[in-house]
Amino acid sequence: CGIVGYIGPRDVAPLLLEGLQRLEYRGYDSAGIAIHSSGKGGGLKTVKNKGRVRELEAKVPARFAGSTGIAHTRWATHGAPNDVNAHPHQDAAEQVAVVHNGIVDNSSELRAKLAADGVELVSDTDTEVFAHLIARSEAQTLEEKVREALRHIEGTYGIAVLHAEFPDRIVVARNGSPVVLGIGEKEMFVASDVAALVSHTRQVITLDDGEMATIKADDYRTYTTDGSRTSSSPTTVEWEA
Ligand code: GLU
Repeated sequence: CGIVGYIGPRDVAPLLLEGLQRLEYRGYDSAGIAIHSSGKGGGLKTVKNKGRVRELEAKVPARFAGSTGIAHTRWATHGAPNDVNAHPHQDAAEQVAVVHNGIVDNSSELRAKLAADGVELVSDTDTEVFAHLIARSEAQTLEEKVREALRHIEGTYGIAVLHAEFPDRIVVARNGSPVVLGIGEKEMFVASDVAALVSHTRQVITLDDGEMATIKADDYRTYTTDGSRTSSSPTTVEWEA
């Protein structure tokens, strides 16, 4: 239903929670966030639950430090609204975290194939397959891992992906579900709706279907799901505060 992401110098959890609150008007049943932890041991840390963003906020530990993260409000299509089915979804080794808007049409086939390969699926969602497919890719770059995973997916998606081995970036992709980049000063945002961005930047890039993007704190690039660069410069969004 709703996606927000941030990479930059600031403490990310409050920013993500604020972004989710700005998307609450769309309705949702669950919420969650994942960050690249800058705390001891690093790695990805996730908090999610059925219910309101307020309840999620209450669950976020005091020490949840990091400056890169993604967040989601879910409107369940596959799998009941509950804590496990809330996004972000991860692989068993917690190397990948994914938030997803849309519907994977071939998720039962993909789940069955993954299960036959020994992957333990923990949720009832269509979304979880993204996390396993990306984690299992042997490609060298995160962009290529996501691209490989997307080749298996039939359906609609707006996704944002974190990978423990690539803490300097967020990779996003769009097919039939909106993804907007927000270009800031040495910080970048991503969202499914400009409403989540406009308090931080008015410089936005709307991805096309079949387009992906990599955002880093001080850089972004857009390309097709086949890997060819696309040109995109930000436009200024008009917004009545
Ligand atoms: N199909 C996904 C799910 O049910 C995403 C739903 C949404 O867009 O929020 O978890």
